[in-house]
Amino acid sequence: MSYVSLRREIVLTAREMFNQGLVRGTWGNVSARLPDKPGLLITPSGMDYLTMTPEDIVLVEGDAVIGRWKPSTELPLHQAIYEKRPDVGAVVHTHSLYATAFAVAGRPIPVITEEMAQVVGGAVDTAPYAPCGSSALAEVAVRYLNRKQAVLLARHGLVGVGRDLKEAMLSCIIAEKTAQIAAIAHMMGGCSELGPDEIRELRDNYLYKYGQNKE
Ligand code: 13P
Ligand code: ZN
Repeated sequence: MSYVSLRREIVLTAREMFNQGLVRGTWGNVSARLPDKPGLLITPSGMDYLTMTPEDIVLVEGDAVIGRWKPSTELPLHQAIYEKRPDVGAVVHTHSLYATAFAVAGRPIPVITEEMAQVVGGAVDTAPYAPCGSSALAEVAVRYLNRKQAVLLARHGLVGVGRDLKEAMLSCIIAEKTAQIAAIAHMMGGCSELGPDEIRELRDNYLYKYGQNKE
């Protein structure tokens, strides 16, 4: 079996997504770009995350879908993101509660915390409604994702991206957490947002200085 470690990482990410409560049932999906050629690996459609194995992950190279299961119905969405964003190496799609509430309300998740600026790099906008799995959804999602790390899908859920699976997952976790904080702060009387210069500085600091093995 090819790409064993990447397949394993996708399964672990899908499991984490479920265990963190970011998805219920089987509504959500995970993919990673192939490291050595055009194509991707993606979770199969409608399969239990806790019993999914690396062998169940579907390999997609061009028009060829290789594996024993049907790929996620959101394959067009994942493919469109990889095509438009060469910097993206992984995509995680969840239906987490508070982020989806913002998507239902058609409101962006605001940049009200430092970690939101650091990890997501800007407000998460809501792409207009298009049916799940459609190429119309793929098209609007990519447009509203723009250069950011997450996008909301109207009446549907959240998509997070990153250079690798850990980053894509973190985009989803921080977007969901910020949506929760925004909703609570709103009940307490409101919240103010960070400005564009502050956001840029926090994001750059996170990308180039934060953590080990950096400047
Ligand atoms: P799949 O099970 O086909 O990945 O679909 C779940 C989903 O979230 C559709 O938007
Ligand atoms: Zn979905």
